Amino acid sequence: MAALSEFFSHLYTMTMVFFTLVLLEVAILIRSITGGVCNSEKRLITTSQYLKLIEEKNPTIRYSRRPTSRVDQSNECAVCLSELEEGEKVRRLKCKHIFHKDCLDRWLQQYLATCPLCRTKVLPDEIVANYHRLQNQIEYDGSDEEMIFLLSALHGNSLHRLF
Ligand SMILES: [Zn+2]
Ligand SMILES: [Zn+2]
Repeated sequence: MAALSEFFSHLYTMTMVFFTLVLLEVAILIRSITGGVCNSEKRLITTSQYLKLIEEKNPTIRYSRRPTSRVDQSNECAVCLSELEEGEKVRRLKCKHIFHKDCLDRWLQQYLATCPLCRTKVLPDEIVANYHRLQNQIEYDGSDEEMIFLLSALHGNSLHRLF
């Protein structure tokens, strides 16, 4: 008899796990149909991808004060308001404004992707919108992350590779 009851309790556990899994899958499916994460996932941009795009468009260079530069030309990083020093990592934007690499990257992540001085666009609007969409989801919508985590645990981390 003991073996039989053990079998049934095992069966019960298995059934519960199965139904939880199915429920979670359905919930995710519904979210993807109604335009949740799964739908827009491909177009979302992570921070590292975003920084790579910035790097592609505005490669990091070592700052050097050219002797030919005009006297009135500012040698100041407009983000941190400190003087640019010889050899520091900087980015020169299309508009010719120069900022510390780290200052500019932080600025571009927190605000719109425009030059802090003249508002020239640094990246296309679509990329910026997709990047901020992902950031907002991470900040304000923890439920998806939790669900994905739970699912990945149940699936033995097969989903985990996607994130
Ligand atoms: Zn700076
Ligand atoms: Zn500028």
